[in-house]
Amino acid sequence: MSEKAEASVMEKVVALCKRRGFVYPGSEIYGGLSGTWDYGPHGVALKQNIKNLWWKKFVTDREDMFGVDAAILMNQKVWQASGHATGFSDPLVECKKCKRRFRTDQIPDKTKCPECEGVLGEERQFNMMFKTHVGATEGETSVSYLRPETAQGMFVNFKNVRDSFNPRLPFGLAQIGKAFRNEIAPRDFTFRAREFEQMEIEYFVDPRDTKKVTELFDAWFESQLAFLTDLGLSTAKIHKIEVPASDRAHYSKRSIDTEFDFPFGQKELFGLAYRTDYDLKAHTDSSGVDLSYYDEETKERFIPHCIEPTFGVDRLVLAILTDVYTEDTMGDEPRVYLKFKPSIAPIKVAVFPLLKNKPELVAKAREVFTMLKKEFGSVMFDDNGNIGKRYRRQDEIGTPFCITVDFDTIEKDQAVTVRDRDSGKQERVSITELIASLRGKLV
Ligand code: ATP
Repeated sequence: MSEKAEASVMEKVVALCKRRGFVYPGSEIYGGLSGTWDYGPHGVALKQNIKNLWWKKFVTDREDMFGVDAAILMNQKVWQASGHATGFSDPLVECKKCKRRFRTDQIPDKTKCPECEGVLGEERQFNMMFKTHVGATEGETSVSYLRPETAQGMFVNFKNVRDSFNPRLPFGLAQIGKAFRNEIAPRDFTFRAREFEQMEIEYFVDPRDTKKVTELFDAWFESQLAFLTDLGLSTAKIHKIEVPASDRAHYSKRSIDTEFDFPFGQKELFGLAYRTDYDLKAHTDSSGVDLSYYDEETKERFIPHCIEPTFGVDRLVLAILTDVYTEDTMGDEPRVYLKFKPSIAPIKVAVFPLLKNKPELVAKAREVFTMLKKEFGSVMFDDNGNIGKRYRRQDEIGTPFCITVDFDTIEKDQAVTVRDRDSGKQERVSITELIASLRGKLV
């Protein structure tokens, strides 16, 4: 696709997200707040479906994973020990003329302002953590930060989980939650926001068996990929990038980024890092609390190493939205539809009475709707406009199946018409078999 066409896909996705209730600009009625986005009803449903699948795959379906939900505000000592207080920064330059600020590594010509061509000032490091104060007094001791990653909430709970559950290595902690970064230049819709959500795992391994550590690291990469395939993301757009040592975070001995072809270029979607014992050691040294592991078989005590698969929820939602956005022609009319895998579609099924002004049709359609809603939850009733318009509306939000109740339903066959989103094909299904038939397809 040409650059222009790619750009217009992005514009169309952003417009659809706003129009149909997926994502709105944050604080919109007050002119917005840069780098913040609000998810509307369909966006929340999509995000929740993804988070539920993630939690099932990586926590409840496994025996070696422990879920946590740590506080966003943490003792400032956490960030001193982790290195974020001094090192979590991006290089920043300010234009002397227009005063706009840029991340140095994101501007092509380091000598002049990309907006007004003015002279740029000296580069300095800008710490991206949002600072706040806890309690009624504002002093150095009350300083806290909105967490810039969920990871530290798991490292500080390593001892709690170890003591409560006595797990054997390897085992992991998993968490889904918000993270905050005062990005210098938020951009590309929800791709780079100042408030976003992460799904992270800190997987603790025995460092003495280096071969096993490598195997587990590789297996985690495969699991990250498998998760993307589960969600139906186009595999051709996914790229594995072994991060060279010069580009790795200070704590990482090996990193693989999973990149994705977004309409604005190939960019990081997920990360995988071998954090070694960096964090547990730093917190042991800093807190004085022992965060080691005792191997009962060998009677040895050591600090476990950590493999960290990290998934950005918002980037994943954006990748999916840009991937499933489809334009085609159906019945000689152009249409737009979101080709979601049914398992993540915000609305699974929509139910229509053929005509709005026939009480017997409406009553029967509501009966079918109630039955399906009890079974599948996200089911919508729609009697607005003609059937063609209703199909288009549901296509635009990616509803896999639309069901129409017509006169034959009542008078003849106790069956309904089930229309498939992608092909537009319709089939007649008896109401008694409807749940079983849909259940098989909504995966
Ligand atoms: P980038 O290089 O793009 O700034 P990063 O390498 O700093 O990202 P990590 O610290 O590895 O990102 O964060 C883990 C994941 O969190 C990323 O892979 C991404 O999915 C997500 N993420 C990070 N920063 C943002 C952001 N500003 N907005 C939305 N998602 C983000």
